[in-house]
Amino acid sequence: MIDLFNRTIDYMRISITDQCNLRCVYCMPQKIRSLAETEILSYEEILRVCTEAVPLGIHFIKITGGEPLLREGVPDLVRQLKNMAGISKVSLTTNGVLLSRYLDALCAAGIDGITISLDSLDSERFRLTTGYTGLDSIIQEIHESLSRHIKVKINTVLIDNGGEPEWRDLVELARVLPLDVRFIEMMPIGYGRAFKGVAHDRILRGLHKTYAGVTEDRASQGAGPAVYYRIPGFKGAIGFISALSHRFCHTCNRIRLTAEGMLKPCLCYASGIDLKAILRDPDKTNEAISQALMEAVAMKPAAHCFTPTPQTPEGSLETRAMVAIGG
Ligand code: SAM
Ligand code: SF4
Repeated sequence: MIDLFNRTIDYMRISITDQCNLRCVYCMPQKIRSLAETEILSYEEILRVCTEAVPLGIHFIKITGGEPLLREGVPDLVRQLKNMAGISKVSLTTNGVLLSRYLDALCAAGIDGITISLDSLDSERFRLTTGYTGLDSIIQEIHESLSRHIKVKINTVLIDNGGEPEWRDLVELARVLPLDVRFIEMMPIGYGRAFKGVAHDRILRGLHKTYAGVTEDRASQGAGPAVYYRIPGFKGAIGFISALSHRFCHTCNRIRLTAEGMLKPCLCYASGIDLKAILRDPDKTNEAISQALMEAVAMKPAAHCFTPTPQTPEGSLETRAMVAIGG
């Protein structure tokens, strides 16, 4: 699918739950009333959407949440997606807490990549950010995933607390391990609005000062929003997903399906299409699902509106927490 701004849309992020077992301060600092089981799309419904999305050009699927591994049956969902002709990559974004329980089954299902969110390598800072004391077990799961030759990415959201943000230790992970460390700028969505993020130019300047020969790696760029850099001697790359400081919308290649079945054309806007209503209407055919997917792509705005202007329509901004959208 090509949208109105000539962007190819081939990637769908599918959130399978709005529940989480962590309490990241910028995402879900306290328990939020979660959706009833019946309000969440079943795996059958998700697969039906994907069956319609693939012929329209969706080839990459990311399973997200909330914490996706809280929902039973993720490996089986991965296996069914991988068996769907036309889907070339299925990956998962997780906080890693439950990964040990599912890693073998995810491998057997053919998972192509796992992104693990990790905001600090310091146990106490990690606990303060996530409410979780098991940093070591998550690091262990990173090693376990790599030992199974799974493509691993680390996603880091840094908070500006006034001092030097913790990027050095995280960058050093990519020296010794064959994984990409990606810094995501804090987005003013949900609880993220209360925090100041770290502008990526600051980290990039630090990279250039600390390491010789840092170069942008256009070959690793892919179709998504991350911009990658290589450091000589490092096994992995360093990526920046700079939603705010370098608006990345011109490279946007995605649509989102929330756990409650809303098709979202853009992370930042509240607008979307209620796909669940279509899926559960016995009078609607698969044609209506394809139509909704094409409409969502046609609705994609040129750019996000994280810094609203006087022209931003009243009430158009997303008010849901990130945990309910899927990142
Ligand atoms: N629970 C899983 C995890 O943490 O990876 C998947 C869902 S989580 C919502 C997906 C990603 O969104 C995480 O990497 C998280 O750090 C990021 N995220 C959450 N709130 C954010 C915000 N306000 N700005 C930027 N990234 C955010
Ligand atoms: Fe949970 Fe992921 Fe949000 Fe943290 S970022 S609260 S792990 S959904």
